[in-house]
Amino acid sequence: MLKIDNLHVAVDGKAILKGLSLEMNAGEVHAIMGPNGAGKSTLAAAIAGRDGYEITDGSITFKGKDLLDLEPHERVGEGLFLGFQYPVEIPGVSNLNFMRTALNSVRKYRGEDDMSAADFMKLIRAKAADLQMDPEMLKRFVNVGFSGGEKKRNEMVQMAVLDPAFAVLDETDSGLDIDALKVVAGGINAQRRDDTCILLITHYQRLLDYVQPDRVHVMANGRIVRSGGKDLALELEEKGYAAVA
Ligand code: ADP
Ligand code: MG
Ligand code: MG
Repeated sequence: MLKIDNLHVAVDGKAILKGLSLEMNAGEVHAIMGPNGAGKSTLAAAIAGRDGYEITDGSITFKGKDLLDLEPHERVGEGLFLGFQYPVEIPGVSNLNFMRTALNSVRKYRGEDDMSAADFMKLIRAKAADLQMDPEMLKRFVNVGFSGGEKKRNEMVQMAVLDPAFAVLDETDSGLDIDALKVVAGGINAQRRDDTCILLITHYQRLLDYVQPDRVHVMANGRIVRSGGKDLALELEEKGYAAVA
C-alpha cells in the first residue's frame, strides 16, 4: 500500500532524512520511534508535502501512485491524513465548518457530491460521541483554547470523519493523561481495518500498550536503524535508544 524508497529530505539546504525506506501493507499499523531530532516529524512533513521540505532523492508511492507528484490537497484526496505533533489553532473557523469543508473537498476530489448538512451533523455527532468529545466543542474555533489532550482528541474526530486510507499520526499520545490516551487509542483502533494502514510516530512505548503495532521501527539520524515486532518497543523502553539503535 505504501512504499518509501531511499528517501532523502533537506530543510534549508540541510540533509535531515538520509535514505529512509519503509513498506507498509494494507491492514498494518507500524510505529516509528526514536530520539528527539531523529527526523520523525520531517518524515511526516515529507509524506504530507509540506512547503520547505525538499525531496533530494528517493520516492514515495501510495497505492501505486507517485505521491511526490501530487499537491498536498491531492494527497489528502487520495486518502492521506496527517495528525500533527502540534495541532494548529484556527481562530475564526469553527470546528464544524472546518471538518465539513475538509470532508467535502475530499469528496469533490473523488467526484462525489457534498454531504448534506443533515448527514454531516449525524456523522460528526456520532464520531464525537465515539471519542467522548463534548458536542459543544464542535462549535468552537478549531483548537483555540483547547488543552493538549482536547486537541489530540479533536484530531481523532477529524480523522474519523475523513476516514483516511493512510493515517500518519505524529506524537498523538504526547500530553495525554491515561484516560484521554485510552480514548485516542480507541479512535486509532477503530480506524484500523483491512483496507487502511496507520503510521504511529511516538517517543514512548505507552501508546503501544493500547494500539498494538505489527511492526516497530527505530529512527536515528535520518534513517531507520532497526525494525522488529512489537517487542522491540518494550526493549527500547527498557534499554533506551542508544543501546538499541
Ligand atoms: P523528531 O521529530 O524526530 O524530533 P524532526 O524531524 O523534528 O525530529 O527534526 C529532525 C532534525 O531536523 C533536527 O535536527 C531539527 O533540528 C532539524 N530541523 C527540523 N526542522 C527544521 C527546520 N525548519 N530548519 C532547520 N532544521 C530543521
Ligand atoms: Mg521532536
Ligand atoms: Mg517530532
